[in-house]
Amino acid sequence: MLRWKDVIYYAKYSNPEPARRVEKTEEEWRQLLEPSRYRILRKKETEPPYRNAYCRSYEPGQYTCAGCGSLLFHASEKYHAISGWPSFTQPATRGAVKYTFDNSHNMERIEVRCNVCDGHLGHVFPDGPEPAGVRYCINSESLIHGSIGC
Ligand SMILES: [Zn+2]
Repeated sequence: MLRWKDVIYYAKYSNPEPARRVEKTEEEWRQLLEPSRYRILRKKETEPPYRNAYCRSYEPGQYTCAGCGSLLFHASEKYHAISGWPSFTQPATRGAVKYTFDNSHNMERIEVRCNVCDGHLGHVFPDGPEPAGVRYCINSESLIHGSIGC
């Protein structure tokens, strides 16, 4: 189980090795992704709270990266955090996501990215439910929900 101290360690020192890497130029990403997904995954924008696809969805299955298709989160780890965005207590695997310190917008946060394609997903906070105590606050547009493998 991944806890806040693990997140800090990864952000500070070194992230887990991804199983594979997907690298494209910004122009290739712009052509590949729908504009709404491109703005979030590659430009680190944030979608509006509540008015997004998966905020209130609790269908079983899994969430993959809208950029590269890698498995990121299981629906079983999704919970109602009343934040306005899809919230998870754990990534699908330790190496699924990577962490970096983000001091933008006058806030000290830890950004969560896809570990395979570096796509921006959202942020992680130390106020999640027990036992792990971490909350992954993720943009719906960076995810694709599928029921395969549930
Ligand atoms: Zn990805």
